[in-house]
Amino acid sequence: MTILLWHRRDLRLHDNSALDQASAEGKPLLPLFILDPGILRAEDIAPVRVDFLLESLQRLREDYRALGGDLWIRQGEPLTVIRALVQQADIQEIHWNDDVEPYSRQRDETVKNALQELGVRVIIHQDQMLHGPGSVLTQSNQPYTVYTPFWRNWSSQKKLKPLPTPTVIQPPNLSLEIGTIPTLKQLGLSHQISLPAIGEKAALEQLDKFCAKPIFDYDEHRNFPADTGTSQLSPYLKFGVLGIRKAWECTEHALLHRQAVGITTWQQELCWREFYKHILFHVPNVAYENYLTQYNSFVWDENKEYFERWCAGETGYPMVDAAMRQLNETGWMHNRSRMIVASFLTKDLLIPWSWGERYFMQKLLDGDQSANNGGWQWSASMGTDPKPLRIFNPVTQANRFDPQTAYVRRWVPELEQAKTVEILSSKNLEVYGYPKPMVDHAIQQRIYKERYKAAKS
Ligand SMILES: Cc1cc2nc3c(=O)[nH]c(=O)nc-3n(C[C@H](O)[C@H](O)[C@H](O)COP(=O)(O)OP(=O)(O)OC[C@H]3O[C@@H](n4cnc5c(N)ncnc54)[C@H](O)[C@@H]3O)c2cc1C
Repeated sequence: MTILLWHRRDLRLHDNSALDQASAEGKPLLPLFILDPGILRAEDIAPVRVDFLLESLQRLREDYRALGGDLWIRQGEPLTVIRALVQQADIQEIHWNDDVEPYSRQRDETVKNALQELGVRVIIHQDQMLHGPGSVLTQSNQPYTVYTPFWRNWSSQKKLKPLPTPTVIQPPNLSLEIGTIPTLKQLGLSHQISLPAIGEKAALEQLDKFCAKPIFDYDEHRNFPADTGTSQLSPYLKFGVLGIRKAWECTEHALLHRQAVGITTWQQELCWREFYKHILFHVPNVAYENYLTQYNSFVWDENKEYFERWCAGETGYPMVDAAMRQLNETGWMHNRSRMIVASFLTKDLLIPWSWGERYFMQKLLDGDQSANNGGWQWSASMGTDPKPLRIFNPVTQANRFDPQTAYVRRWVPELEQAKTVEILSSKNLEVYGYPKPMVDHAIQQRIYKERYKAAKS
């Protein structure tokens, strides 16, 4: 008998619930990853993210081989692939780690039902979160709708320790084609971005480095996009190259070293990640409509030309443009910048948040449906936590969070010769070949507020 382990968003050997239990049984193990055309052909796929995935698979395969095992790769519709393997390899048990995205949940339900009909034992593990959906509920057993009480409950619960990495993997004694990992080109995709370090070793090193020092100052530095004050662990967390229990344990070790507010603030970010996963799980409709459905009647301006200028980083607001160019050139954007550009798109350009959400998914290395949707709906004030009604003034934001203009100068080279005061005021920058502000913030925010009020009533 062989046990099948279906890898999806858990591309690691350490701290992996499904692998820990599947390998503990001491039976031959067939780890599998399926490149699903349903995902690869989606309109919101980012080539850079697929590249990161392919490289991470390569590293995972090497890590398996170092323990005596291997990683099987298949391309195709998941149920068809798994059914074929069940027949070829005498599989009687399958393990996978659960996911909250609507597409994955539907796919998993179909696979589970079909396999159970074939008599295969299906074992599903909670692995992506410290506390999965259903384990953080209000006193009346309802999902939370606001972050702060969710955090209070979530942070008071005991966290599990990371799981050990198996020391040996017993491969199945079968001549079953391993399957090659395609290149990005073979998938018909390309990009110009350099990827961060690949693999779980790199992710663990980055976590250690962050928890050795920057985490203590996270509170002061995390809002300044010119600083490297945040962990930049998001792509690893997105693909499960890093285990969440492991990340949490590092924060506890840091706290033993020195009690610093930065550590708690970073823990709160990990909690935001889980909060949005819970929201997507409990309210899957957020994938295509407002969490606060009363705003479904909000009147947006579907201005394609404005949208393209926003995408290209040519709005005439240096802080917004720096952020969009950072995204376009690196596949990553600082959290403060994400909030600024999302506010600008929805509240200054009055363009539907779903357009921005899709563009982010087409570009982000860490593109993740729950965090991205949550961030966009929050920014549009149509998601969770809409009070107070937040409208970011792009000029004020630049003055507060990039006062030396280092971030703007890094990403908007045509402003290199401009004076700091000129950049911070977003005025008279046309002499440097830079566009005039495309809209007047004061006017636009007034229109937004009127429409927001009208939609609510
Ligand atoms: C409009 C918008 C879109 C976003 N889209 C994504 C996305 O597609 N994928 C994504 O991972 N994050 C998204 N975020 C959240 C956040 O911006 C990134 O997680 C963060 O910038 C990643 O950098 P970091 O790893 O250095 O974060 P750190 O500050 O070091 O935080 C540590 C980890 O906590 C999690 N996290 C931090 N902030 C948030 C948050 N607000 N919501 C959910 N999780 C969070 C991430 O996993 C992150 O890696 C979005 C935020 C906004 C406002």
